[in-house]
Amino acid sequence: MTSQTTKAGQTDRETPSADQIRRAPKVLLHDHLDGGLRPGTIVDLAREAGYEGLPETDPDKLGIWFREAADSGSLPRYLETFAHTCAVMQTKDALKRVAAECAEDLAEDGVVYAEIRYAPEQHLERGLTLEEVVEAVNEGFREGERRAKANGHRIRVGALLTAMRHAARALEIAELANRYRDLGVVGFDIAGAEAGFPPTRHLDAFEYLKRENNHFTIHAGEAFGLPSIWQALQWCGADRLGHGVRIIDDIQVADDGTVKLGRLASYVRDKRIPLEMCPSSNLQTGAATSYAEHPIGLLRKLHFRATVNTDNRLMSGTSMSREFEHLVGTFGYTLDDMQWFTVNAMKSAFIPFDERLAMINDVIKPGYAELKSEWLFRQTASTSASVDV
Ligand SMILES: [Zn+2]
Repeated sequence: MTSQTTKAGQTDRETPSADQIRRAPKVLLHDHLDGGLRPGTIVDLAREAGYEGLPETDPDKLGIWFREAADSGSLPRYLETFAHTCAVMQTKDALKRVAAECAEDLAEDGVVYAEIRYAPEQHLERGLTLEEVVEAVNEGFREGERRAKANGHRIRVGALLTAMRHAARALEIAELANRYRDLGVVGFDIAGAEAGFPPTRHLDAFEYLKRENNHFTIHAGEAFGLPSIWQALQWCGADRLGHGVRIIDDIQVADDGTVKLGRLASYVRDKRIPLEMCPSSNLQTGAATSYAEHPIGLLRKLHFRATVNTDNRLMSGTSMSREFEHLVGTFGYTLDDMQWFTVNAMKSAFIPFDERLAMINDVIKPGYAELKSEWLFRQTASTSASVDV
């Protein structure tokens, strides 16, 4: 009994391999549709649309250009890269293709559930209506789910409709999200440069959604500090925080390791407010200085409801597996830690409770149990080999 316990304890501390990380079921709550295009698709769509603004037309070079442009360390500059991706997402076919490939790429990476966000108002340049945008993206997600299934993967994708902080259409987009709930849209979000555009500018949208018993998340506490998080929660009533990294400013760690939480950090932890953390993106925008310094390490230790996300896979050259590889390499996380983040994310999803629970019990936990049991079979093989000798 004792040796079994020790054995299990040892395997718990094993570092998962890159292959195990990829195969592990993962849940993604914060990913932008216009931040995850395949470079080759951007080139194709630009050609079809007659868009000549791309800085490169070779897919490999274009991919590198996006990462470098996004690496500048400032959020406004980072947001500039979206002018190109949005420029090629202005027709139903283009939106459908981008959404289908998004679902396909995530499934290939082991993501089993994803909430993908986009701002419908940014896809109207060529005459589409808001409704046509939502329907084209939904069709694309369904197509991507079917293709993933044909390739032996299972993924479910829900859409979050985003309103832009600097614009004045938040209520209209919130109403749109509400009209398409149960039809592929699972919630609402607000995004864009934080400084100067507090979420309280859009209170009417949040109040409307609350009256409709609908869900929403708010980008807050990324470039801007605690007041932004406080407003998002206490004025707007956000269900989740997009990023929320600056909550760390309300946590004091003394030299002896004692931790003291301020009122806001306590509230976030006590109320189990989900934090949609995006480590690589935060390094690019300067919201964190290194993976080792990223607040996710401390927040995981303190049992905040932290989740791991990609934000913009194209601009950060990342994927869910890449994010976990960085965290495993930095913090020594095991499959148990990965499962903890994944269950946290699934608990925080905007789909109904019974469906979240079924995803946790029937997909996520069995997936991790299978990966965690792999050592048993390796052990058996090496034992029998030594007996033969
Ligand atoms: Zn984001």
